[in-house]
Amino acid sequence: MGHLIPFVEFAKLFVLHHDFHITCIIPVFGSPPKAMKEVLEALPTSIDHVFLPPVSSDGLESLHPEVQIAVTMTRSLPSLPEVLKSTRVTALVVDVFGMDALHVAKELNIPPYIYFLANAFSLSLLSRLPKIDETVSCENTLRKIPGATTGDLPEPLKLPGCIPIHSRDLPDPIQDRTAEGIILNTFMELEESAVKALLEEEAKNLSLYPIGPITRTGSNSSNQVEGSVCLRWLDNQQHGSVLFVCFGSGGTLSYEQIVEFRNSLKFPTQINELALGLELSGYKFIWVLRSPNNKSSITYLSDQTHDNNPLAFLPKGFVERTKGQGLVVPFWALQVQVLSHSSTGGFLTHCSWNSILESITHGIPLITWPLFAKQRLNAVLLDEDLKVALRPKANEKGLMDREEIAKVIKGLMVRVEGKKVKSHMKGLKIAAERALSADGSSTEALAEFASYCTNQPSF
Ligand code: UDP
Repeated sequence: MGHLIPFVEFAKLFVLHHDFHITCIIPVFGSPPKAMKEVLEALPTSIDHVFLPPVSSDGLESLHPEVQIAVTMTRSLPSLPEVLKSTRVTALVVDVFGMDALHVAKELNIPPYIYFLANAFSLSLLSRLPKIDETVSCENTLRKIPGATTGDLPEPLKLPGCIPIHSRDLPDPIQDRTAEGIILNTFMELEESAVKALLEEEAKNLSLYPIGPITRTGSNSSNQVEGSVCLRWLDNQQHGSVLFVCFGSGGTLSYEQIVEFRNSLKFPTQINELALGLELSGYKFIWVLRSPNNKSSITYLSDQTHDNNPLAFLPKGFVERTKGQGLVVPFWALQVQVLSHSSTGGFLTHCSWNSILESITHGIPLITWPLFAKQRLNAVLLDEDLKVALRPKANEKGLMDREEIAKVIKGLMVRVEGKKVKSHMKGLKIAAERALSADGSSTEALAEFASYCTNQPSF
């Protein structure tokens, strides 16, 4: 109610002075509280309201109210576009709990605004948090044991245009910089300059332990039969001759590439182009295939193995034509075993971190095909910084076409550029082994962390 009331009062002001029509759009789980309905029903006719379809309250009961609100907002987002499209909207003003709705507005070309219900003092503090975090040393503000009294800063914090504030008066979550360190699954030799820079910057605030690469060493999959099909197939191939194609545990290709960015355009399916590119290259492959979906991360959230057959999305005759050349595995393969097999010579990956580390551990050079999240960032690291990968270029329509795919596969498997990439990857594999050796950087960082933990009083 503390958010609803100022929102409707703001709406009234707008209607009164500027003759607008306002719709309050409200996400709920379960039926809306009586008090909320009373406020909304008493509004003038030029302010109406819409309750979005109630979302599931699964898992919300025991959560903090702020988290309940934020999750309800997120779960309600899919029904928001329909409401926005049903009327001519000139602006969408969202509450701080509804930040995700800003993107929905943007996609529909509706100008997005935030109604920040607190004051300018709070906004000043929040908007300057990164700077404060950088400049204020931890010793003074750190509350190591939740509940203990905070050490106060010697000087009050001065925010431009605001009254100086003592650190004891800052909101609790800001005072409570409880984490003392961060453990990273990387190693010095892999990201030396980034780790060193972080160490220098963060040294005054918290410790950093690069302890990696930590990867799976074997399979704990129950599906050994499917796994062994892959491995048996690899046993019959030549050394380093097979390209492994896999988009992680849930990544899928879109029906029409880059739909997320270019909603209105229609392209041939990316899956089709990848299939024909593999075929055109003439190189051996194992492809872990999932059905296309325009949400590239969909299978992380739902099990798709029961209700579809990914092979149905392949180009006509592809499986028969590539019988001697490749193996298409629906849904899942034993990736670590495939990467450790001597016949595997390349990996076309979606660039999530585990896949990258597993590839480094086995010295397999890469083709990068990022789909979402941090994967594009990782692709740049692999391709431009570490030079252990080749990256196909999307055409002007945002699609990786078959010729480009075939060219990059050939590039990796036989050409000069591939040889360079292989040699860099070999170097990284050796560096990874060194990092994990008895006196390697990761082993030392682990020992340092262990010794720090040992010397802590136990509670
Ligand atoms: N994985 C696998 N078989 C598959 C797909 C994925 O064994 O067919 C494993 C892979 O070896 C890795 C993990 O699942 O350990 C995927 O993690 P990653 O960070 O690479 O990708 P994510 O699934 O988180 O996007």
